[in-house]
Amino acid sequence: MIILKTDKEIEIMREAGRIVAECHAMLEQLIKPGVTTMEIDRLVEEKIRSRGAVPSFKGHHGFTASICTAKNDVICHGFPDSVPLVDGDVITIDIGAFYNGFHGDSGWTYAVGNASKEIENLMNVCHHSLFLGIEQAFAGNRMGDIGFVIDSYAQQFGYGNVREFTGHAIGRELWEEPVVPHYGSKGKGIRLKKGMVLAIEPMLTLGDWRSYVENDGWTARTIDHSICVQYEHTVAITEDGPQILTVL
Ligand code: MG
Ligand code: MG
Repeated sequence: MIILKTDKEIEIMREAGRIVAECHAMLEQLIKPGVTTMEIDRLVEEKIRSRGAVPSFKGHHGFTASICTAKNDVICHGFPDSVPLVDGDVITIDIGAFYNGFHGDSGWTYAVGNASKEIENLMNVCHHSLFLGIEQAFAGNRMGDIGFVIDSYAQQFGYGNVREFTGHAIGRELWEEPVVPHYGSKGKGIRLKKGMVLAIEPMLTLGDWRSYVENDGWTARTIDHSICVQYEHTVAITEDGPQILTVL
């Protein structure tokens, strides 16, 4: 079932989104060689709770941490650990905050120290593909229009575009229907409507788009162990077009 949100509900979701954005602003300063993802997890949880919210991911389908981490060839849903980040790593931190009954969700990739030019280019293209997708999130357009622009842009650079994980609608539940694929056909898929709120979150790789999930049942890696990056915003479809909710 697709649940449309009222303007008032979108205002609450903007608050949830702002809390997530505040966490990412903190990480920009924090992420450097030597820091562990367990430390990041603790600091993010503290920040979320200090704002009167709770971490969306903790307990979600049994996930035990406040953030999802995805280092190098991990695509998504990795657990924080005590391994210090090293110069040249690339790490995605996915953060969700549940505030006043609603979720905000945004994942962001950070270079640890100095990224190679190859990884920097991948990050730039993935980041831009997110904003191309967001531009398509307006009433009357189709879901396939979002995926089409992301996929065709990524293809121009020969990057792998992960298909086995998608974006999703979001609201009182973290994962609501419908899914938001990051590939698709122009003019195809369900009609987008005012009041839909979508987490758009393209994941691009330097190699194969295919993935496998580790024995922990969560951690997803690229099948060829190529580097994967991701950028995600929670976006409301309004009368005035797409509005990004996970911003300061
Ligand atoms: Mg996320
Ligand atoms: Mg998401």
